[in-house]
Amino acid sequence: MAIKKVIEHPAKVLSTPCAEVTEINEEIIALLDDLYDTMVEYDGVGIAAPQINVGLRVAIVELGEERDILEMINPTVIKTDGAEVDIEGCLSFPGLYGEVERPDYVKIEACDREGRVYELEAGGFEARAILHEIDHLDGILFDSKIKRIVTEEELEEMYAEEEE
Ligand SMILES: [Zn+2]
Repeated sequence: MAIKKVIEHPAKVLSTPCAEVTEINEEIIALLDDLYDTMVEYDGVGIAAPQINVGLRVAIVELGEERDILEMINPTVIKTDGAEVDIEGCLSFPGLYGEVERPDYVKIEACDREGRVYELEAGGFEARAILHEIDHLDGILFDSKIKRIVTEEELEEMYAEEEE
């Protein structure tokens, strides 16, 4: 378990599709734990293995008010529905925020650390976070999907309005 350095764009590891995990062993468990420690250190809501320089299909996302951690090994998208535009950022693009359109419903299949296959449905921001991380595993970065860049001033104004 360790905090890793987050790889920033541009980097080959970020734009290369990741390899499937063939065996869930100690290395994969350690990778999941490193992803968690690094995500917490960098204050993210999700992180994918290539962001800590590991080209494997492993990612985690924080879910819900309880901030439960969803661990995804070899995730695949089974179904999506709807479309919604919202603001995204990415630990590999410090200071970049933009409006990205994504489905507002997703159903995925993935493996957990015990090697059990599970299905999960998510909506709204959680669907967005899951799809953002699965994109990372396919070497797809969110900057290619940004429809409009949002400045930090705009973001601050939005947060200020929300707090009023
Ligand atoms: Zn990202």
